[in-house]
Amino acid sequence: MTENAVFTAARVANADANGWLPDHAVVVEDGRISDVAPQSSLAIGIADTHAVHDLGDVSLLPGLIEAHAHMHAAAGDDPVYTQYAAFNDTTEFFIMRAVDHVRTALLSGVTTMRDLGGPADVVFPVRDAVRAGVIPGPRLQLAGAPITTTAGHCWFFGVEADTADEVVRAVRNQVKLGADVIKIMSTGGMFTPTANPRSAQYPVETLRAAVVEAERLNVQIVSHCLAADGVRNCVEAGIHCLIHARWYDSDFSKGLAYDPEIARMAADKGIWADPTTGHIMVGDLRIKAGDVAPRVPHWAVSAITVPEDEHDAALRDMRERGVRFVTGLDMGMAHGEFDMSAANAWSFVELLGFTNWEALAASTVDTAESLRIGSETGAIRPGLSADLMAVSGDPAEDIRDLLNCTDVVMEGRLVKRNGRALV
Ligand SMILES: [Zn+2]
Repeated sequence: MTENAVFTAARVANADANGWLPDHAVVVEDGRISDVAPQSSLAIGIADTHAVHDLGDVSLLPGLIEAHAHMHAAAGDDPVYTQYAAFNDTTEFFIMRAVDHVRTALLSGVTTMRDLGGPADVVFPVRDAVRAGVIPGPRLQLAGAPITTTAGHCWFFGVEADTADEVVRAVRNQVKLGADVIKIMSTGGMFTPTANPRSAQYPVETLRAAVVEAERLNVQIVSHCLAADGVRNCVEAGIHCLIHARWYDSDFSKGLAYDPEIARMAADKGIWADPTTGHIMVGDLRIKAGDVAPRVPHWAVSAITVPEDEHDAALRDMRERGVRFVTGLDMGMAHGEFDMSAANAWSFVELLGFTNWEALAASTVDTAESLRIGSETGAIRPGLSADLMAVSGDPAEDIRDLLNCTDVVMEGRLVKRNGRALV
């Protein structure tokens, strides 16, 4: 049930999320933004027809778009990457954890969340319950079970498929179960001891078969890729979004094998990247506070061989060549805390050279475009769903202010007011 409402704030982000509209009002009717106007221009008597919420000296932004979550996972900080043992929990436990996680994300300002891999019997019922208004949560876009090779990355909650025929069948099956997007693991990953993060799991032809099938069924397909060989395969196959894009050399004794030609090809094809750098900021906070120990790297990857700034340099170069970035924290994985999506923008500024406004646009309007929901949400613009979040302070001045969420509006309805949860 949404009422007509007006939200006023000292600073309201403009439609492109690149500047403030001072002392403006966002008018909401039937859950959608109907007008954005100076407070002084509001009709006298608007309070007779609309609930007027003066949010005060806050910065009002579109709700954050979190492009990479695993709602069933624990966001643990296990230093030795044995978290996969925690994936032995029951379906019922996973569901209860996911219900808590989607609410936590919503109350931190996330109004759209893309889940990139979880058990189908967990994630689809949670989405249905959010849609039906049974539980609070953001708009959800789901991959269902990630597709991986036998014993490949995330096999313990994925679907194992080795040949092109098996992969095509797995794509069809996830769509049948309700997937909006397909996730495929093109390389090994950090917490799967039976998979090698430095090598490709699928040849180009197999990935290409998956892309063709996903496009035929009108869903996007994104891929986990840590190895340079995997990035290259994904780009050649036309995968829609590169997750991580860490460019590891296949040789254990070497660092990265970054290839600017492949980055340029990705840009030409309109391929997006989710650099998942936000969790680094969260990890730094937790390690500095003495809460957790630094993680021990996977057997195939030496953290000493590849310092973070080499990864960041490759990511910055990808961006300079025209690759656009989405904000995905990898919620549920190590340091991917469900109320820390704002750390994505923070990392884009501190590690990747974005301006504050570029990072704020990345977290909202750009990622909405990548998820193909830009005509529904992601900006403060008449016609779009009234999905809003407010923070104290000014994140255009200090990006860390984005962490100070005071108010959240989901489809026109206040779900958090002045720091207090209403759902
Ligand atoms: Zn992930």
